[in-house]
Amino acid sequence: MYKISKGDQFNSWTVLSQAPTRPNNIKHWLCRCTCGTTREVSQHNLIHNKSKNCGCFRVVSEHTRKLLSEANKGVPKRPKGYQHSEEAKAKMKASQVARRERERVEAEPQVSSGKNASHLS
Ligand SMILES: [Zn+2]
Repeated sequence: MYKISKGDQFNSWTVLSQAPTRPNNIKHWLCRCTCGTTREVSQHNLIHNKSKNCGCFRVVSEHTRKLLSEANKGVPKRPKGYQHSEEAKAKMKASQVARRERERVEAEPQVSSGKNASHLS
């Protein structure tokens, strides 16, 4: 079993003292975040890095930022005015609806000739 003792550090948490064990027998530790917030954190969360801080520290790591910026470089920007006009959208939608309707009508006899045959007569 992993031992935690006072003064241990887990990411932004510094262990201050052991907190009362919860009814479900999960050990908790009173920890202080680097920002000064104190909170009881379960031993499991500390050991498995499930809780790295009180929630204040949401800064993207340097590594992640680099990956993101490289990913963005590869994406060509859409020219301005790329968006479809309302008219074009309406046309597209109409044709989609029409096609769906046609497919539905064509599929209907096959579908209903089976189980739902009783409904037809
Ligand atoms: Zn914090």
